[in-house]
Amino acid sequence: MSDTLSSAWALAWIRDVQAVLADNRSELNDLDRAIGDGDHGENMDRGFKAVVVKLADGADDVQSVLKVVASTLMSTVGGAAGPLYGTAFLRAAKAADGDLDADGVVGVIAGALDGIVARGKATTGEKTMVDAWTPALEAAKAAAEGGASPAAVLRVAAEAAAKGAEDTIPLQASKGRASYLGERSIGHKDPGATSTALILGAAADAAEAA
Ligand code: ADP
Ligand code: MG
Repeated sequence: MSDTLSSAWALAWIRDVQAVLADNRSELNDLDRAIGDGDHGENMDRGFKAVVVKLADGADDVQSVLKVVASTLMSTVGGAAGPLYGTAFLRAAKAADGDLDADGVVGVIAGALDGIVARGKATTGEKTMVDAWTPALEAAKAAAEGGASPAAVLRVAAEAAAKGAEDTIPLQASKGRASYLGERSIGHKDPGATSTALILGAAADAAEAA
């Protein structure tokens, strides 16, 4: 395991994301069918397949990888998730200066959350991907302050995001398509929070293998 995460990690992360989103495409569609229009798995699968094609020739640094992810998601993923994840990766790219140490990982997660909030104006408790990114950032900060490695910071962030996604089940949606359902959105896991947990889980897997 390395002390810092390089472009090789970022490329491995994004390839892992593509694989995990392809594996979970139906599950994400089913979650979105319950409280939306059933396309979240399809949207994310299409987007990351396009990203992997764009990154086939590699990239010089973490920032360039994240920029390609941002622009490709913006242009290939429709709906709410495309612009939200696109802005997340754009802000994450801006935060990524060289290889990432533990604080660098925190900066990237903070950038992603800032981008999502700037774009979607959601706060916690509204049953969106913000409910996964927010606990992920808190856990990452605490781990980095405690001296954890970049891989360990990503692992606790991924675990917090997965818990945050589970914790969206009892919430009533007040942003996005699911908000049209009012109380009927209660009792279902938010698809965007679920894809966020998968994306961060892949980041941790790739870091542990780096
Ligand atoms: P659409 O709703 O346009 O079909 P997707 O199905 O791809 O788009 O994405 C739905 C996800 O987007 C939701 O599960 C939620 O996590 C996220 N989302 C929707 N609106 C917002 C928002 N304003 N802020 C943050 N996340 C949001
Ligand atoms: Mg949808």
